[in-house]
Amino acid sequence: MRYVSTRGAAPSLGFTDVLLRGLADDGGLYVPDRRPTQDLAGLDSGASYVDVAVRVMWPYVAGTIDRDAFEAIVTEAYATFRDPAVVPLRDLGDGHWLAELFHGPTLAFKDVALQLVGRLFDHELTRRGERATIVVATSGDTGSAAIEGCRGRSSLDIVVLHPHGRVSDVQRRQMTTVDEPNVHNIAVEGTFDDCQALVKALFADHAFRDRVGLSAMNSINWARVMAQIVYYVTAQRTLGGPAAFSVPTGNFGNILAGWFARTTGTPIPQLVMGSNSNDILTRWAATGVMETTGVHPTISPSMDIQVSSNVERLLYELYERDGRAVADAMATFADSGRLDVGVDRMAQMAEVFDAAAFDDDATRAEIRRTHDATGVLIDPHTAVGLAAARRCRRDPGLPMVTLATAHPAKFPDAVEAATGVRPPLPDFLDDLLERNERFDVLANDLEAVRAHILTHSNVGA
Ligand SMILES: *Cc1c(COP(=O)(O)O)cnc(C)c1O
Repeated sequence: MRYVSTRGAAPSLGFTDVLLRGLADDGGLYVPDRRPTQDLAGLDSGASYVDVAVRVMWPYVAGTIDRDAFEAIVTEAYATFRDPAVVPLRDLGDGHWLAELFHGPTLAFKDVALQLVGRLFDHELTRRGERATIVVATSGDTGSAAIEGCRGRSSLDIVVLHPHGRVSDVQRRQMTTVDEPNVHNIAVEGTFDDCQALVKALFADHAFRDRVGLSAMNSINWARVMAQIVYYVTAQRTLGGPAAFSVPTGNFGNILAGWFARTTGTPIPQLVMGSNSNDILTRWAATGVMETTGVHPTISPSMDIQVSSNVERLLYELYERDGRAVADAMATFADSGRLDVGVDRMAQMAEVFDAAAFDDDATRAEIRRTHDATGVLIDPHTAVGLAAARRCRRDPGLPMVTLATAHPAKFPDAVEAATGVRPPLPDFLDDLLERNERFDVLANDLEAVRAHILTHSNVGA
């Protein structure tokens, strides 16, 4: 399997190069050059998550990683999950189900991909005799999942920039109490946007980038999408027949994985995108025009996104794999903040996708309704997905699976405001508020951050 850029002007690469590279040189995203057919023959209904995961992902990595090594990595990655099913299903009644993606170390669905991707990075870098420094800017959630994916891996340093005093205690502590020499937390005296600007500037400094082996694990990395295909397959297999899915959507990575599951043979007749007030995707689905507005802060902050970068991978399909046409479309969108995708392409999309958006009041109402009807507490992201599932469901005869992307205890204030019940942290995080913290406060200053990384990462030493 080779990977090609959605913009058609970068060299094709194998899996491990795509893994380490992230973005293609022409600014595009890497996609598989052909559609493998899932081979699940011989797996019975009792097959474990890891068994299915290895079978589903193998065609994407074959030829670049040894099969036994790959199986060991997948096994280890999902042994960190606290539920034996890894991604268990919960029955909500009336054919609605939750697929709980939050049983990993940081209580959110990013763990499913990053537990695997951190290990894949380490394996490949070690094989090459290289090291890398992963740099991440976070407003709270992604940072801890990336740290947990990289902690203790000998070929990696991870540096996470968060805005000083602007993330919740629990979020900060999930990052700063990880006691590993390769984990470096920087609290920047500034905003999340300042953190992002610093990371961008670090990557733009090519001499520095090469010196410390700067790398990213962001949501455009193909390996993250690949890891997310698996739970669509396991959920559908557990339910036995065709199943629809509803996904609280931000960067479009999660739902894109559902689309890949479908196109490689999993019977998924419908995919529903749920948005919060940042509803660019919902407006796009309704009008065929993708148009940016400002970002609105909501109670589902991991979906407060203006431009969903993984949409480019779907556009590549809708533009019939014509990289030049995608490059033109993305240039138009970047210049004008507006892209008209056209009636025919949207008709193709509407065969599978539906979309609905919900503001914070509607999100709280869904949390309350679900709690009243079932006793189950859901987080605000999951609530957006479930509300969209209820509104857009096409066939009440088919199971509808909403992806539960965060543990309710990760967003206790919103859940308590909606239900009056404060969800407790799981036992293994009982002492989170007593653990020792380790982080450095730095000015919002590129030179200070650069110097700090050089003195603290092993690469700089
Ligand atoms: C990242 C995230 C999302 C959005 O997922 P995308 O792949 O960016 O669409 C939804 N919910 C939670 C809790 C997240 O952390």
